[in-house]
Amino acid sequence: MNSHDPGRVKPRRVVFFMSDTGGGHRAACDAIRAAMEQRYPGAYTFTLVDVYRWYMPFPFRYMPELYPHWVNYAPLTWGLGFWLINARYRDRIVTRIMNMMWARGIRRLVAEHPADVIVSVHPVFARTIMHAYNTSQRCRPPFVTVITDLVTTPAFWYVPEAERCLVPTQAAYDRGLLFGMRPDQLRVTGLPVHPRFAANLPDRETARRRLNWLPDRPAVLVVGGGDGMGPVHAITRAINRHRLPVQLAIIAGRNRALQRRLEAERWHQPTHIYPFVIDMAVLMAAADILVTKAGPGTIAEACAAGLPMVISGAVPGQENGNVRHVVNNGAGVYTPGAQRVAETVAAWLAEGPEHLAARADRARALARPLAAQTIAEELHIQAQRAPLRTRFNAQRQKKPVLRPAPEDDWVI
Ligand code: UDP
Repeated sequence: MNSHDPGRVKPRRVVFFMSDTGGGHRAACDAIRAAMEQRYPGAYTFTLVDVYRWYMPFPFRYMPELYPHWVNYAPLTWGLGFWLINARYRDRIVTRIMNMMWARGIRRLVAEHPADVIVSVHPVFARTIMHAYNTSQRCRPPFVTVITDLVTTPAFWYVPEAERCLVPTQAAYDRGLLFGMRPDQLRVTGLPVHPRFAANLPDRETARRRLNWLPDRPAVLVVGGGDGMGPVHAITRAINRHRLPVQLAIIAGRNRALQRRLEAERWHQPTHIYPFVIDMAVLMAAADILVTKAGPGTIAEACAAGLPMVISGAVPGQENGNVRHVVNNGAGVYTPGAQRVAETVAAWLAEGPEHLAARADRARALARPLAAQTIAEELHIQAQRAPLRTRFNAQRQKKPVLRPAPEDDWVI
C-alpha cells in the first residue's frame, strides 16, 4: 500500500546519470521512471543527464554520436577499451586518469544536479562522479548503480562506495564480489524493462492488429539496438533472398542512412520498416522470431515477451557474456553472418510452430519482467535517507569550493 500523500509532501528528486551510447541506458531510465510513477504517483521528479554530452571535454562529449560508428567499424579497438576497464588493478589506474581528465566537468555536474537519490546507469563515469562528490561536496545523496550489462560486467560498473548496486543476473552479482563490493550492497533485481512488458502486454493477434501486420503469417523482427547497429541491411537482404513465407519488420532505430537504404530495397514479402520505435513491447508481442545483436536491453525485453532470438553479433567484450546467457539457456542461437542468420530463420520456420513455442518458453523462463518495479522500491527507500557525509575536507583544500548551500532539503 502506498502511504505517500502527494498533497502534503514536496516531490523528491531522482537524478539519472546516463548517456545515449546505444539505446539501452535511456531505456533503463525510462523503465525505472515509469515504474516509480506507477508505484509512487506524484512523489518524485525525474532528471535525465547525458553526462558525456553535457559535462565532458572534447572529444568525449561526442561519444553518443561516435559510439555506433566506433563499434561498427573498429570493434577490436572497442574491445581493447573494454579490456582496460575490466580488471581489478588496471581499472584503478584508468579511474585515476579519468578523474583527472574529467574533474572540472563532473564537479560542475554534481553541483548543478542536487538530488535525493542518484541513479547511475552507465559504467564509464560512475566512479568519477563519486570521486567528484568526495572532492567537492560535504555531503551527497544516496548513490544507486543499476547495471545494464547482463553478464560480462566491466569492473568500472562497481562503485565501492555506492549504497546499492542492483544487478541483472547472478553472474553480475558474483563479479561485483570479485571487484570488491560487499554482499549487502548488491542485489539481483533483473535488468529493468518497461512496465509495458509486465502488464497489459497484448497477445499476438491484438498486437498484429494494432500494427497492421498480417494476422496469420509468421513475423520476423530485426533490430540492431537503439542506433540500428551491425549488419541489419545485409541480414534483411539475405532473408529477402530466401523468399520465406514470412512478414518482416525491420527497426532502423536512430540510423537514418540505414532506414533510407531499407526503404530503397525491393522486398519479396510483406515488410515494415520503422525508425526508432517508442513501444517496443507491442512489436515484440507481435513477432515470432527476433534477430538482434546481443544488446542486453533487447535480450531482457525479448525474454519478457517470450520471443526466441537469433543473435547475429555482439559488441566485443561487454556483450560476449550475453550470447552465452541466451544460448546456454536455450532462448536462442548465435549465428554471426547475414547468410547464417537467414538460414537459421528458415530452419526454425521449417521446424514448425511447436518448436518455436518451446524456444519461446525457454526465453520466458529467463525473464524478470518486474525488475523495474523492484528497482523503484529500492530507490524509494534510498530517497528517504538523510544525505551522506563525503570524505571532502574543506580545510585540506588549497582553494575551498565555496558555494551557497542549495535551498533543497538534501544538504545538511
Ligand atoms: N529501442 C527502442 N526503439 C528502437 C530501437 C531500440 O526503444 O527503435 C530500445 C530497445 O527496446 C532497448 C534499447 O533500445 O531497450 C536497446 O538497448 P540494448 O541494450 O539492446 O542495445 P544498445 O542500443 O544499448 O546497444
